[in-house]
Amino acid sequence: LKEHNARHLWHPMAHPADSQANPPAIITGGEGVEITDVDGHRMVDAVGGLWNVNLGYSCQPVKDAIAHQLDRLPYYSIFRGTSNDNVIELAEMLRDFFAEDGLTRAFYTSGGSDSVEVALRLARQYHKIRGEAGRVKYLSLKKGYHGTHTLGASVNGNANFRTQYEPLMPGCFHVPAPYTYHNPFNETDPERLAQLCLAAIEDEIKFQDASTIAAFIMEPVLGAGGVIPPHHSFMPGVRALCDKYGILLIADEVITAFGRTGDWSGSRHWGVQPDLMSTAKAITNGYFPFGAVLISEKVAEVFENDTSGEANIGSGYTYSGHPVGAAAAIACLKETERLNVKDNASARGAQLFEGLQDLGRRYDVIGDVRGGHGLMCALELVSDRQAKTPIDKATIGKMHQTAYESGAMLRVSGNNVIFSPPLVIEADQIDTILSAVDAGLASI
Ligand code: PMP
Repeated sequence: LKEHNARHLWHPMAHPADSQANPPAIITGGEGVEITDVDGHRMVDAVGGLWNVNLGYSCQPVKDAIAHQLDRLPYYSIFRGTSNDNVIELAEMLRDFFAEDGLTRAFYTSGGSDSVEVALRLARQYHKIRGEAGRVKYLSLKKGYHGTHTLGASVNGNANFRTQYEPLMPGCFHVPAPYTYHNPFNETDPERLAQLCLAAIEDEIKFQDASTIAAFIMEPVLGAGGVIPPHHSFMPGVRALCDKYGILLIADEVITAFGRTGDWSGSRHWGVQPDLMSTAKAITNGYFPFGAVLISEKVAEVFENDTSGEANIGSGYTYSGHPVGAAAAIACLKETERLNVKDNASARGAQLFEGLQDLGRRYDVIGDVRGGHGLMCALELVSDRQAKTPIDKATIGKMHQTAYESGAMLRVSGNNVIFSPPLVIEADQIDTILSAVDAGLASI
């Protein structure tokens, strides 16, 4: 299989030749929070699929809902003129689920990149309808990740996800993220850093001319950039700047929505109501590709009262509102609430973070340990703690392999090891992850 893989398959975010040098693990089974590879090796999935399998791999109600819907109606579009009962029920469930976030309308997509793209487009349309067609620019955080479509890639903060495809969308500007371990201000105090970043953002808004900016997009806890939780004053500060300058705030909650941070949305952690929220991933827990943009009353009103024709939504996908995806999402939401996975995410997240901090005291190769908000943690590995030199690819690869052999699938991103296990994980399974990481670190 590994040989065939190298011959016929290109992997996302990888060099085509990479599979020859580093054959991928072929995963053939999943049960609970564990996965099994083709050789029968079982391990705890510390990645949760790709930050999405919150309920684990054996969620019977979701499987039943999908099977039932496949029998009833496998597909019908929800483009103008048609709808289906599942998408209607789901929209109402989402409205209730995100009531505290002030989000009352849903627009369906087929994944996270789509959700980001739609949210960014809706922001421009919102201004256009209101007679501010000049608001076309976007601000985003350096280190932010917003998917791979052209608009999303343009607002990606990490240059690695951007520069290969330039020229991208003009008018996208990246502002400093409150990342205490590395920042242009050399500031390690989180509150002072938050204020410095907010001042830099306001400078950028003025420099660009506020009346040309459509939206600010940010992850409430930066995920793919290496799990960077901002200080508690940061996101409210961004909200205040957006309000001051008439800019929409888009919370990209593709990772953080549905309990991962220990609350039902990441924005709620910081007491912020976004204008638009992009979601995907855990909405269907990996059981079906699906996404949704959630829309506040403030934005909805403008579109719904439009008489100019500008509100005609030109975004949409064949699989927007797929009835099987919607059935999966309904079942996932019910299970997510019934099991109250956000509280387990907090408790097990605290255990994981504590364990990683303990490893941080024991291994010099650990430059930074980040977490503290549910089941999102990261280790930043360095070859020199003083200089914060990123560890090389081969060494982190060895660590990953040893951890794999010791019973945990980890995710490596650059010089970060990222942890985002299913939210239904139990204490002894967190211990298994920690001992596998310990073995991995010992091996390097
Ligand atoms: N936004 C964020 C915050 C993400 O983490 C991701 C994916 N990791 C995306 C957007 C893109 O989602 P997808 O991979 O489903 O297109």
